[in-house]
Amino acid sequence: MYCPYCGEKLALVLHDQEGLIPYCKSCGEFRFPQFATAVSMVVTNRTKDKILLAKHKNQDDYILIAGYIKKGETAEKTVTREFREETKLNVVKYKYMSSRYHESHNVLMLNYLVIAENGDPVIDENELDEVKWFDPEEALEAIRKDSDAQYFLKNALSELKNKF
Ligand SMILES: [Zn+2]
Repeated sequence: MYCPYCGEKLALVLHDQEGLIPYCKSCGEFRFPQFATAVSMVVTNRTKDKILLAKHKNQDDYILIAGYIKKGETAEKTVTREFREETKLNVVKYKYMSSRYHESHNVLMLNYLVIAENGDPVIDENELDEVKWFDPEEALEAIRKDSDAQYFLKNALSELKNKF
């Protein structure tokens, strides 16, 4: 591990509250691990009987709509901005669900359950191949297996059975 500011090799030093944390002797600063943050969305309609899934170019299985949080932006803002960018539909209501750290992309995914306005999504064909509404059981079949998306979708479907 190296200091992202000066390139000095980091040493683990005991921090008062946080335990052993990488420390840069040259800067005299603790360097907490850095990672990106993104939102992922399980999107349903107003009647809560459909789930919207997306597919990237040249991929067989479906995923959740997701996007990176821009520096300085709140996660809440990312949910409404990213959803509108990717579908041209508006978010009606959303609720934070849970998070998962994704090792291979070094990103913390914050999952939201989203109610969207009714309508047909209009996609940016440079980014996505397809975005479509599924019945909940079909969505579970179509979602990428053993993925964070599958985990978030299962959580959301049991939440929808309750009351969101
Ligand atoms: Zn440094």
